Amino acid sequence: MPEFQTSPGMRDILPPESARWRQFVTVFASVVEAAGYGQVISPLLEDLGVFQRIGDATDVVTKEMYDFVDKGGRHIALRPELTASVCRAFVQHRPLTPWKVWYAGSQFRYEKPQRGRYRQFDQVGIEVLGADDPNLDVEVIALGWEFYRALGLRRVTLRLNSLGEPDDRARYVAALRDYFESHREELSTDSQATLDKNALRVLDSKRAGDAEIIAGAPRIAEFYSDAAAAHFAAVCAGLETIGIPFTIDDTLVRGLDYYRHTTFEYQGGTLDSAQNALGGGGRYDGLVESLGGPPTHGIGFALGLDRTLIACDDEGVFPPAPPVLDAFVVDTTGGAEALRLTTELRAAGLTADRAYENRSMKAQMRVADRSGAAIAVIIGSNELAEDAVTVRPLRNDDGQQTIARSTLIDYLKKARP
Ligand code: AMP
Repeated sequence: MPEFQTSPGMRDILPPESARWRQFVTVFASVVEAAGYGQVISPLLEDLGVFQRIGDATDVVTKEMYDFVDKGGRHIALRPELTASVCRAFVQHRPLTPWKVWYAGSQFRYEKPQRGRYRQFDQVGIEVLGADDPNLDVEVIALGWEFYRALGLRRVTLRLNSLGEPDDRARYVAALRDYFESHREELSTDSQATLDKNALRVLDSKRAGDAEIIAGAPRIAEFYSDAAAAHFAAVCAGLETIGIPFTIDDTLVRGLDYYRHTTFEYQGGTLDSAQNALGGGGRYDGLVESLGGPPTHGIGFALGLDRTLIACDDEGVFPPAPPVLDAFVVDTTGGAEALRLTTELRAAGLTADRAYENRSMKAQMRVADRSGAAIAVIIGSNELAEDAVTVRPLRNDDGQQTIARSTLIDYLKKARP
């Protein structure tokens, strides 16, 4: 085993998988840019306080953050998510609202690594700051849904809930705390610890023993104010209007504490239940303020790239694209011709690779076969003397032929699928 390897929960993404990652972001960008979202690129590092404002009761902030003091004495954290960075950027730059942005990039959480759960993982997401319209909730939810469709996923399901207005939520949390306290001994030890911090999050528990107690807990819908009920009804109606299927799940409370009103999650149809959340999001109305900005409504989602790609593999969709090369140049005259030709072909907008070290024809052809190129372009001493090239299709049974070198670019362009 080599002395140095990636640290736990971190991975190298190699070709061709890396091309799939890039394509994933490209597909996402095309879906959300078509709806008026612009990309925000923010730093991987923020002042620790930016994330602490998210809520000290979340594991993401209290237990899982990579933080350190830099050489200037600043307490810094590697971002565990991007909503807080987007809100920090909003407060710093004060853009016009509604501010509709998207992002893509790595997040860092010190979690227990397993399939679909890493310490460095990638997300794509959107956030909209400065609008409270339930139609916007529908738009945001629909964009995530469309993105999964664009990847080819068909077994994703949408779960939806509303946490109500802050007051509704507070009354609900109080009732929930009373209820769980009266059943404390029946809850798992982990859930008892969660209860001490945040009663709402006990609903998140996936432990079998907790299920019965959770099933008997008060329901959030009983606590909605008229305004909250109307907002939620409008979101449900909007989704029905545009034909997006969903189920209401009133145990869906999400890990982060600043969520209010609409909350939602996309689930994969194939992964284990602990890792089947492909992505999720919701409204968060207090975060911009807690970072020093004006009262601002926010809504967004983050979708996990890693887990979504596992779901794609399970459903057999969005496969890694095979390498695309128009030509592979095999030069048995020393290599200088391959240099000239590949340069010419690339300048003409074709993709071309070549062999190196002036190896035998047979060795070079082996590399050509492996390269995934459509056509081998062969130059030997005869071709060189006649200003010609021999073209040999590598992916079909068409025979090889020798053509004038001046016609090569046309020939290769015509051979493209
Ligand atoms: P969250 O930011 O916690 O709401 O997570 C949003 C999505 O990011 C989840 O649904 C996952 O797909 C993904 N995700 C979160 N944590 C991890 C992780 N440790 N490893 C891989 N994906 C993750």
